[in-house]
Amino acid sequence: MAEVTEEQVRGALSSVAAPGGDKDLVALGLVSGVVVRDGNVGFTIEITPEQAGAFEPVRKQAEEIVAALPGVLSVTAVLTAERVQQQQRPQQPPQQGQRQPPSKELVPDVGAIVAVASGKGGVGKSTVSINLAMALLAKGLKVGLLDADIYGPSMPKMLGVYGRPDSEDGNMLEPKENYGLKCMSIGFLVAEDTPMIWRGPMVMSAIEQLLRDVNWGTLDIMVVDLPPGTGDAQLTMAQRVPLTGAIIVSTPQDIALLDARKGLNMFRKVEVPVLGIIENMSYFACPHCGERTDIFSHGGAKATAEEMGADFLGEIPLDMAIREASDAGKPITAADPDNPHSQAFMAIADQVWEKAQALKGDSQGPKIVVQ
Ligand code: ADP
Repeated sequence: MAEVTEEQVRGALSSVAAPGGDKDLVALGLVSGVVVRDGNVGFTIEITPEQAGAFEPVRKQAEEIVAALPGVLSVTAVLTAERVQQQQRPQQPPQQGQRQPPSKELVPDVGAIVAVASGKGGVGKSTVSINLAMALLAKGLKVGLLDADIYGPSMPKMLGVYGRPDSEDGNMLEPKENYGLKCMSIGFLVAEDTPMIWRGPMVMSAIEQLLRDVNWGTLDIMVVDLPPGTGDAQLTMAQRVPLTGAIIVSTPQDIALLDARKGLNMFRKVEVPVLGIIENMSYFACPHCGERTDIFSHGGAKATAEEMGADFLGEIPLDMAIREASDAGKPITAADPDNPHSQAFMAIADQVWEKAQALKGDSQGPKIVVQ
């Protein structure tokens, strides 16, 4: 089937009337950022903040009308109330090396934003994110956790909180909270079994909404669990979210480290400081005899960090207790703070906090250097 075109999308949208008048969305110039990729369509409808309520049914109608076009697989329409800023946003994911100014207004009251990344899935990135967040919380800091892993959001399960977030005013979402940690995840907003297809700009819209339309309050630090990999989504996010720094999680095997290298290079290209590498599943500690086995040949991450001039932040063993705690929605660092693994996370959190503070101090104002 022929690919749907931007003209067809605009054509369909010109039959959607704006509220309180007879003019349509296209004639009024409210539609922007139309992106069509492989049958997945995304666009924004630009409004003022006061119009949000009135436009929500229009947004739905616009999605339905575009979804009915032949060849359309999915449609994401986003209302945006930041007209000036929106016009500055790229309509395509920025290319490597073109750092876009991050929009600081997305999260006005957050002291530092630290992303947790991995070159591939399954290395324990989410496990590290939540335990790092809990360890920062244990230091007495105000902490938020943004689950930006839109392809496989795992925070609802790991934090043991489910269901749609509340909204007091119908616009801003309240973050979910457990153990004092504020958390927002796309997993709270869509059913677990909903297949999600995200493409460049749509990914950014989703992430921007999770940052901007959530009542985070004042935070000392926000931990962002990024989607695994070093593709468009991660790159766009690294460029558009005002990250203070990034952490790479890797297992010790060569193949995972190869991916970790790619991650490191990606952040360097977009000038986000890499705070360091964490080796997860570093070795196996037998729960019965206490013997230690280097299943994946221990120490690879440390060697890679040294080789690439990055800091090594610490190692976390492969231990049933860590997995069981995560699966039960009780991250080990919160549920059992005296456990040696929790202590390891706390030592990592100390370094992360120190580095984040130093970076903020360095830049004297803007949190990261923008070319
Ligand atoms: P990712 O976010 O990289 O995809 P997850 O954090 O979801 O990885 O971890 C994948 C699985 O491995 C989960 O079931 C998690 O509980 C488990 N896991 C992660 N780290 C450890 C560890 N150090 N010891 C035992 N199990 C772990």
